[in-house]
Amino acid sequence: MHCSEFRTAISARVDGEALPPGIPGAALDAHLRECPACRDWGERARRLKVLAAGLGLGAVGDAGGGFGLGVVGDVGGGSGLG
Ligand SMILES: [Zn+2]
Repeated sequence: MHCSEFRTAISARVDGEALPPGIPGAALDAHLRECPACRDWGERARRLKVLAAGLGLGAVGDAGGGFGLGVVGDVGGGSGLG
């Protein structure tokens, strides 16, 4: 499974949504243990979420369909890490 698939699950978890089918929480946790890149990505996603909440932008995730998390994905680059 690719990091990008796990990152979809991570963003769902950060948003408090259900994980995508095919990615149980245990599998996600196992991947996070062995993939520093996804740990880092998840940490940034969480921080961005907290930041948005602190600014009163909590609805951005709902309205923008992952607008904020998309920015994190671009920063991460991600190719060759998974
Ligand atoms: Zn990964």
